[in-house]
Amino acid sequence: MSWVYDGKSLKAFTNALYVSAMRRLRRNPDHGHPFVLYCEPTSFCNLRCPACPTGTRRSGLERASRDLAGFKTLLDEAGDYLFSLYFYNWGEPLLHPELPEMVAHAHGKGILCYVSSNLSMPLSDDYCRRLMASGLFQLKVGVDGATQEGHAAYRVGSNLETVKDNLRRLVAIKRASGGQGPRINVRFHVFAHNEHEIARCAEDMRAIGVDSFAASPSDLPPGSEPPADPRYRKSEQTARQLAALRERGDAAPCSWLYDAAVVNPNWSVFPCCSAPSESFSFGRVTPVPGRAGSSLAEVWRNGSYRRARACFRAENLPGWLERVLPGANDGTDGMCLSRAGARDAALLCEHCPTPYILERFSGDVVRLSRIFWNRAVKYLREGDPRMGGMFVRAALLGLARCIAPRIPGNKD
Ligand code: SF4
Repeated sequence: MSWVYDGKSLKAFTNALYVSAMRRLRRNPDHGHPFVLYCEPTSFCNLRCPACPTGTRRSGLERASRDLAGFKTLLDEAGDYLFSLYFYNWGEPLLHPELPEMVAHAHGKGILCYVSSNLSMPLSDDYCRRLMASGLFQLKVGVDGATQEGHAAYRVGSNLETVKDNLRRLVAIKRASGGQGPRINVRFHVFAHNEHEIARCAEDMRAIGVDSFAASPSDLPPGSEPPADPRYRKSEQTARQLAALRERGDAAPCSWLYDAAVVNPNWSVFPCCSAPSESFSFGRVTPVPGRAGSSLAEVWRNGSYRRARACFRAENLPGWLERVLPGANDGTDGMCLSRAGARDAALLCEHCPTPYILERFSGDVVRLSRIFWNRAVKYLREGDPRMGGMFVRAALLGLARCIAPRIPGNKD
């Protein structure tokens, strides 16, 4: 990863440290910027997955497709501070014809880029080649079965043969370029109806030549049976995390509010990925050159963000936990389906539906700490103790932040 982050300027690292320190102190990062961005290219999807607000067509998000020029303008402002950019959230990113150009632009700014796709659409060879050459770091693909029935029981409308054909062509392009291109990781979402197909699907994916295959617990459509294998029951995992929060009576401030921002294709800004309705918006950026409006930094420091971060101040935290924990989505509410399309929502964080994702970006911070260490060693070897010492302190602060109070067992 250092081949990407090494291109970042000092201000990117100092910003990440600054917001980490502000999080630790439970204060507002009044001079900071997000260093992780969720910036999906489309808010719509070709499938009808029954746990998803977009798939069930219950989403309260405006149907929109991101404008490439606006995306570049947004990155002109925010890109210098970003380490990771996720091109997915509620929509299907590969439905956007200019996704490869967006990825290439972000990659050019030294940002690690991630895409997650259902890959169940006709893709031209040219599009596949542009995507594989864009500098994308990881392409995650959802394949939920070894048979069409097993796969499409949840991924309603998907065609397994189309997905496999696309995978074969992407793998062939990667091989032809000597292994250049993103890691292609297949993720199998486990349900009661498909758990018996995991091993066969893994075998099929190995034969195609993807870089990795993993089966993982999934959000269940409301009322559906959990998998028999307890390792794949998300509701149990979530219940453990919520119980841990209850017992501790403490939590570090939500990492989404300090590290990240979600900018929707229509430029509304959400605090995290748990908001399936425009009424949860914290503001709107206007990335049009020459047009007056809010910058991402302005929205990120506005009254909604301040109110949200205030939930985690020591004096407010007990009341927040008491309010939030009883109504939290324990994995049986699909992907926050009950809140999809909400119109009169209060500030989302004051009634956080997913307190088990507060620690989402610790993995990113650990990666940054490693880069800090590497830089410290480099400067010390070159005989520059001032810079070396600065990066040692930076690495320590980054690590210190990761041992702040957090929800046990939470992972990226
Ligand atoms: S809704 Fe919850 S998870 Fe999302 S940003 Fe607010 S506190 Fe964090």
